[in-house]
Amino acid sequence: MAADLYAQKRQMMVDKDIKGRGVKDKKVLEVMGKVQRHLFVDEHLKEKAYADHPLPIGEGQTISQPYVVALMTEALRLKNTDRVLEIGTGSGYQAAVLAEIVKEVYTIEVRKSLTDMATKRLIDLGYRNVKVKHADGYFGWEEYAPFDAIIITAAANHIPPALIKQLKEGGRLIVPLGSTVYYQTLTLATKKKGELNVEQMGSVAFVPMIGEAQKKR
Ligand code: SAH
Repeated sequence: MAADLYAQKRQMMVDKDIKGRGVKDKKVLEVMGKVQRHLFVDEHLKEKAYADHPLPIGEGQTISQPYVVALMTEALRLKNTDRVLEIGTGSGYQAAVLAEIVKEVYTIEVRKSLTDMATKRLIDLGYRNVKVKHADGYFGWEEYAPFDAIIITAAANHIPPALIKQLKEGGRLIVPLGSTVYYQTLTLATKKKGELNVEQMGSVAFVPMIGEAQKKR
């Protein structure tokens, strides 16, 4: 399919599935209309890239549904000077969306093959402000902390303490929190005087965060 046909599909997705469902932030809408989601999935899934669904990316993992990517990004109230940490690089799509908005993106992926694929893809697409690391994101990325915002794109039943530490005062953290088997509550936490103010944003379904997150309760 020609590139301009994807552009049309992408704009329809933004209008109907993202703006149509309540996302208002102008920059987020602009970027969702710009980042080419079809370049973050396998060839045979390209035709489905602009429907509002998660899609498989290998290793039993998924690229999140566009509406949820937009919703989580908007909730972080990002500025162009921000430095953001993402846990769960997956395809690299969410990282690319963030990289279009903020100054620096740091993203951690626990599965080696996905880390390698996303690293290459983000370089090929010219994202110079994204750093990808192969590690368990439970421990964050101390070297580049603190972060203005942290986005966890895998489900956990608690917020990893290291991530709370690595969040700036006034910083925002978003995570699908709760049972890692079925549904979770999208939870937005803001750090005020070292404590988290927590706001629940509705139900989502993410793949589980593996590693250390599953050992602790
Ligand atoms: N943000 C991704 C989708 C994430 S799917 C995108 O835009 O495509 C969740 C991802 O989190 C998977 O790739 C999974 O391997 C990864 N993951 C699971 N547990 C993790 C952990 N402990 N640390 C880092 N990544 C993890």
